[in-house]
Amino acid sequence: MKYQLETIPIWESYEAETECPLCYLEDKFEKYNLSFFLGGSVMEPDIRERVNESGFCPVHFGMLFNEGNKLSLSLMTHTHLRLVLKKLKKFENKPVAKNCSEFISSLKIIKNECALCNKLEETLKRYTFTIVYLWKKEEDFRKTFINSKGFCLPHFADCAAMANEVLTLKRKDLFLTELYQLQLQNLERIEEEILWFTQKYDYRNTDKPWKNSKDALKRTIQKLTGKTM
Ligand SMILES: [Zn+2]
Ligand SMILES: [Zn+2]
Repeated sequence: MKYQLETIPIWESYEAETECPLCYLEDKFEKYNLSFFLGGSVMEPDIRERVNESGFCPVHFGMLFNEGNKLSLSLMTHTHLRLVLKKLKKFENKPVAKNCSEFISSLKIIKNECALCNKLEETLKRYTFTIVYLWKKEEDFRKTFINSKGFCLPHFADCAAMANEVLTLKRKDLFLTELYQLQLQNLERIEEEILWFTQKYDYRNTDKPWKNSKDALKRTIQKLTGKTM
């Protein structure tokens, strides 16, 4: 599969020095898209079509709801609902009990789709590809990569899968070894940080310095789940 390169956002995400550059970009892209979906894009036929088809997952519906543009969201929600109804009406003249598996799988599709998740996934694939590409092509980036804080676990898995997809055997071996070392180092680092966070609750440690642990819980949750808090 061919992916488009996105070198500028990747460099920017590494300069931010967060627990995961891909989480950093995902958050940014998600925020941008909340206003995108509620702004002028409501009128763009291809976007409307995507939203009509997929709707949004509970998390993204919640975020869009809290953005405060109720008219745009209602317009999209209404036409999405109409399409859901249309899909269900296909079974009006087909007894559902006789077409049970088709019926159930169409319900699953209706439930699991999200226009924003889909868009995020496509973009994150391009970002992940760019990381692997820059590692291969630019010595400067490779140094930055090795000295970074690694990734959250889901994006760590995505990077490994991307390397498996696009690198030759020899390069893949090298990339995966470096990625694995980087990840292990940083999981050990954060393990110490959250341990110290718990130990700070001991009255004997009250006056000792926090070191890097003040926000260790937040960062550890992100490291494990990819969810920034
Ligand atoms: Zn991440
Ligand atoms: Zn979603």
